[in-house]
Amino acid sequence: KEFIAKRVQNMTPSITLAITAKANQLKSQGIDVISFGAGEPDFDTPEYIKKAGIEAIQKGFTRYTPATGITPLKEAISKKLLKDNGLEYSLDEIIVNSGAKNSISTALQAVCNPGDEVIIPVPYWVSYSEMVKIPEAVPVFVKTKAENNFKVTKEELLSVITPKTKVIMINTPSNPVGAVYSKKELQDIAEVVLENQIYVISDEIYEKMVYDDHKHISIASLNEKIKDLTILINGMSKAYAMTGWRLGYAAANKEVIQAMGKIQGHALSHPCSITQYAGLAALEGDQSIVQSMIKEFDKRRHYMIERLKSIDLLDYIYPEGAFYVFVNISKIFGRRFNDVNINSSLDFSNILLDEANVAVVPGIGFGIDNYIRLSYATSLKDIEEGLNRIEKFLKKIN
Ligand code: PLP
Repeated sequence: KEFIAKRVQNMTPSITLAITAKANQLKSQGIDVISFGAGEPDFDTPEYIKKAGIEAIQKGFTRYTPATGITPLKEAISKKLLKDNGLEYSLDEIIVNSGAKNSISTALQAVCNPGDEVIIPVPYWVSYSEMVKIPEAVPVFVKTKAENNFKVTKEELLSVITPKTKVIMINTPSNPVGAVYSKKELQDIAEVVLENQIYVISDEIYEKMVYDDHKHISIASLNEKIKDLTILINGMSKAYAMTGWRLGYAAANKEVIQAMGKIQGHALSHPCSITQYAGLAALEGDQSIVQSMIKEFDKRRHYMIERLKSIDLLDYIYPEGAFYVFVNISKIFGRRFNDVNINSSLDFSNILLDEANVAVVPGIGFGIDNYIRLSYATSLKDIEEGLNRIEKFLKKIN
């Protein structure tokens, strides 16, 4: 008798977690590990948001809420979508979930039947491929080009579309690359979505982290037709340094939101009531604090790029958004450290952690093996020390 469901057996545990676990183990032995692994802002949740959470407890907002979220929060999200993205969503077109990850997973469960195909451009955020498997849908990976900052094109999408395609996943600004899709690039994707009458799940969780002259555009804002086929995902985790609070949301047509509400009503009830009040304060409060965090990320981004420029064995994709640099390590493959060959991103990440005490995320976790991801959601001091160690280590390989 099989005690664990096949679809769960088919899910792979995250490789990124394995490296994090190893880094933590070294730290617990007193080893000074510098980590470039962070997938969350290193800033504390802003004071005004924490205060709203505390007040929610004191005022007794500690009971069940409506399944799709409290009305004032949905109103604030609706206002935000109009102000920032030029999008009009009524309250029954919005659902609040326990983090953007939960929003995406619920959306996939709401629209996918077993066997439906979900197109995932590679490299991709680790959870997409596994979340697709919960409703027994099938991840279909499509390769993208480094020259195009790994943004998926119309031609690439058309090469993998089949009658079974149900959803295309896009992520802008992207993790792990930090690429930001332009209006033209989104228009091309929208054409594919409209021609095939499928959904696009647009993960916009890094919306606020865009640099230089780049501007975040939501694919839903291109026209009414594409808006109707978009499931827009966003949340508070990254913009407001609220990862542990677990608050995300989706905006889509009424049918999709109603279906997501049905799942949520039975599976989760609703996100934590206290978190919802804190999230409301986050959206309604002074946004200058968000800008100051972004300014700090930008400073670190510049520093990291300057340092990487001078390291011959490493190439990188210039990051336009999010808080990661995707670094090409192809030149290291085939080389050796002591007697160990380095032939994969996992080899490199393991040796770097053991020998230089620097933790990075191997690209294989994102579906591409000749890259590593460095996060700059850590202090400038640690970035400097971590890069010093990487530079020193690379001089020792031959
Ligand atoms: N989408 C992407 C691309 C992410 O990188 C992350 C978090 O790392 C999420 C979604 C999930 O965010 P949340 O903490 O709101 O679930």
